[in-house]
Amino acid sequence: MSSFINTSKNNHLKNPSQVIIKPDDAFDEKDHDFMNIALDLARQGARSGEVPVGAVLVYDNQIIAQGFNCPISTCDATAHAEMVAIRRACESLDNYRLMGATLYVTLEPCTMCLGAIVHSRINRVVFGASEPKSGVIISQEKLNEKSYFNHSLLVEGGLFAEQSKALLQAFFKERRQSKKSIGKQNSL
Ligand SMILES: [Zn+2]
Repeated sequence: MSSFINTSKNNHLKNPSQVIIKPDDAFDEKDHDFMNIALDLARQGARSGEVPVGAVLVYDNQIIAQGFNCPISTCDATAHAEMVAIRRACESLDNYRLMGATLYVTLEPCTMCLGAIVHSRINRVVFGASEPKSGVIISQEKLNEKSYFNHSLLVEGGLFAEQSKALLQAFFKERRQSKKSIGKQNSL
């Protein structure tokens, strides 16, 4: 007789994880405000030469932590915007769990960040643009639906996706151009 338990579905969770992609006007005003702050943080990151991604953690309609992607300046491969915000929130609340919190992030999370979201028990994630290369909510994977995470998460995506994408595109365009001009200078 097999001793394996079938956990192929989220059948041990009361509320299975959900992903909803919707247009800007289907989000409420508060969502707009918090994502606008996350976009400002992303711009701040771009100004310091980091890939522009921003994140804001909200509890009870109050910002408890925020951050932007900064692995280069901090020499920390884990310093993605979500990780920075989660670490700061845990420190300031003196708690390793962030139950009831909503994370606003301008880009679809990667495996590392989704792991941290699950471990910190954040309940809701609102993201902006999809990340075709490393996003694991809708792009490369639907990782949050895996039953082994044992945490139900509501994910709502697409908020200000165009603005977020435009920031990233402008950043990479500028970086390509500056690389080209450095190449030209070196060949003189
Ligand atoms: Zn990440």
